[in-house]
Amino acid sequence: MGHASAFAPQAPIYLDHAAATPLAPDVVRAMDEVRETGFANPSSPHVAGRRAKALLEDARERIVALAGGDLGPGTRLVFTSGATESNRLGVLGLATAPNGRILSSARDHSSLVAAARDLTARGWEAVRVPLDAAGAMRLEDHGAGRKPQEILCVTLACGQSGAWEDVAGVAAWAAAGPHRAVHVDATQALLADMAGPFGLPPRSVATLAFAPHKFGGPRGIGGLFVRRDVHLEAVVPGPQEAGLRGGTETVALAVGFARALELAVSDRVATARRLATLRDRLESSAVEAARAAGIEACVVAAAGRRAPHVATITFPGIDRQALVMAADLEGVCCATGTACASGSSEPAPALLALGLRDEAVRGAVRFSLGRDTSAAEVDEAVRRIALVCGRMATRSGR
Ligand code: PLP
Repeated sequence: MGHASAFAPQAPIYLDHAAATPLAPDVVRAMDEVRETGFANPSSPHVAGRRAKALLEDARERIVALAGGDLGPGTRLVFTSGATESNRLGVLGLATAPNGRILSSARDHSSLVAAARDLTARGWEAVRVPLDAAGAMRLEDHGAGRKPQEILCVTLACGQSGAWEDVAGVAAWAAAGPHRAVHVDATQALLADMAGPFGLPPRSVATLAFAPHKFGGPRGIGGLFVRRDVHLEAVVPGPQEAGLRGGTETVALAVGFARALELAVSDRVATARRLATLRDRLESSAVEAARAAGIEACVVAAAGRRAPHVATITFPGIDRQALVMAADLEGVCCATGTACASGSSEPAPALLALGLRDEAVRGAVRFSLGRDTSAAEVDEAVRRIALVCGRMATRSGR
């Protein structure tokens, strides 16, 4: 049964980085320092408060300098509690007209779905943009008739399929009128093989949400970039964050955010290329192993551009939850469903929207890689998945 392995049988191999990544040691060190030097409330006028404020603003400037470029000069950064809140502030904050149109798609995280739903309660029309076979939005089908305001939700890299959005199509949509605003969810999009921060056409985006716990940073903080000329209403009003988000700021988390981003962008292109190669290796060998066991596995959304760290593979005829549990017992951490609802029993909406057969959606499992994932781990994970597939295929009488 298989060859000798360099891994202890119980040592788990973590392939769920789209859900959460481990904190980078350098980030921990940066946050530890600030816990001592920057503990005070940044709004306090005394010397300790001023020091905390300086650390906070330094972190903000570093983050904007590293990743705010797509939104143009003068981009502001609002610190939030995570990408969920950033998405909510981005969409609801932009929606100032009494009756507009909100366009979203099955690619979107539940926080964007909820924001769109809440806008309909305010009299907005909600349009669900269909997806093409590669998992990108088909924007030409977006509903007709001019509204005073239209907001398009764009999930740059889909957390479920890894499929990348067609950014040229988004820019063309945005260019059609000043009443149109684009909110981007870039939470899964930091790892990419491109020169610019997010590869978005300049000034096509009004607000952009992301969170550092997807790239080695702390949980409990997120960011929303806001283009200089964009008016945003606060969702949680208060004097902090230039009036865009109330609540005492978490200086240590902001510093950890900035450090994690520095580490991530320092070798982003090389890491993205390395991970894309590992992803392809995982996909082809896991599919081959499953097929050898009689399961007609295939890669989801393989046709188009994809995030380098996400491999969603369907094992038709196999129940994805049973597979994830069996893989867990074998020491492979992977996921069903969406990034933030890995335990969910509901099929992932983005996979349903791809037009996959029911059986394929029910058998879809997401493996996601991180900057420390090695080729040896991938190979060992595939060896374990092959064992699981063999057992499950035998049980289902293949
Ligand atoms: N958007 C996407 C695409 C995600 O994958 C996630 C979480 O996985 C979120 C938003 C929510 O992020 P957070 O957990 O920081 O609120």
